Amino acid sequence: MIASTSPASFRLERQPLDLRFRMARLAERQWLTPHYVRLRLVGEDLIGFSSLGSDDHIRVFFPAAPPASVEQLRSAPSREYTPLDWDAEAGRLDLEFAIHGDGVASQWAATAELGAVAGVGGPRGSLVLSGRPDSWLLAGDETAVPAMRRYAALMDADAQGRIIVEVADVAHELSIAAPSGVAVSFVHRGADRAGAALAQTLDALTAADRPAGDVFAFVAAEQAIVKPARALLQERWALPADGFVAKGYWKRGETEYHAPH
Ligand SMILES: Cc1cc2nc3c(=O)[nH]c(=O)nc-3n(C[C@H](O)[C@H](O)[C@H](O)COP(=O)(O)OP(=O)(O)OC[C@H]3O[C@@H](n4cnc5c(N)ncnc54)[C@H](O)[C@@H]3O)c2cc1C
Repeated sequence: MIASTSPASFRLERQPLDLRFRMARLAERQWLTPHYVRLRLVGEDLIGFSSLGSDDHIRVFFPAAPPASVEQLRSAPSREYTPLDWDAEAGRLDLEFAIHGDGVASQWAATAELGAVAGVGGPRGSLVLSGRPDSWLLAGDETAVPAMRRYAALMDADAQGRIIVEVADVAHELSIAAPSGVAVSFVHRGADRAGAALAQTLDALTAADRPAGDVFAFVAAEQAIVKPARALLQERWALPADGFVAKGYWKRGETEYHAPH
């Protein structure tokens, strides 16, 4: 492994945020593919909502029935989601959900009636990117698309890089807005294990594929992606450990997976 130093062109900084719990209601549902849905939550409690980091997460609480109290809402099952877009004055928060069959969050996102109550906790803190990476690599499955959309929104018009998204097949590809110098491509898992196609794509990138300058990388998908992501970013590309994010966003066979922070 080549020695690596902190990037000069950008910084990643942790910033704490006061933890708040908010009640919201489902206001809109928009299907973007047969297994991917954007939801709009609204409510007075969402006034003042803030999320500073592109890969921030909140904990969303999904009660099976209208809760009688805030305590009951807090005791409902909860899962982690990325705040995609919000209006802190109007009290609106948009989220996107990969729909995968079972799972309390997936079921709620697909079927809850408009007007249904959800809870929102956090974000508790943020990893804030400042400066301008010389190049970007964003890679992930559907669960990482909201974070990838947010990173793409930070890019300058002349940004360089690539975004690689693993989806089931062509019918499940999601459009991600990015500058023209950032190529968006899809890999298809078909009937394969989730993450295998993305891992294969990362494994195929060599030291010679490393873009020049300071590269910012974000990789998130099923937990097994972390190993091939680190092998590429730390070993073959020699990126400094404080200059990239590689995370499991869910784990095969595990309910309510908590990613290590
Ligand atoms: C920091 C962070 C941010 C995240 N942001 C988002 C986001 O914005 N949008 C999003 O969709 N997800 C996001 N996730 C992933 C999401 O939290 C998990 O997928 C979560 O487990 C879904 O909850 P569930 O109740 O549907 O399934 P669970 O009850 O947790 O799990 C039930 C079963 O489904 C499996 N499973 C879980 N997720 C998937 C999946 N995506 N595909 C196939 N099988 C799955 C589990 O292995 C388990 O066997 C994020 C995760 C983290 C850690």
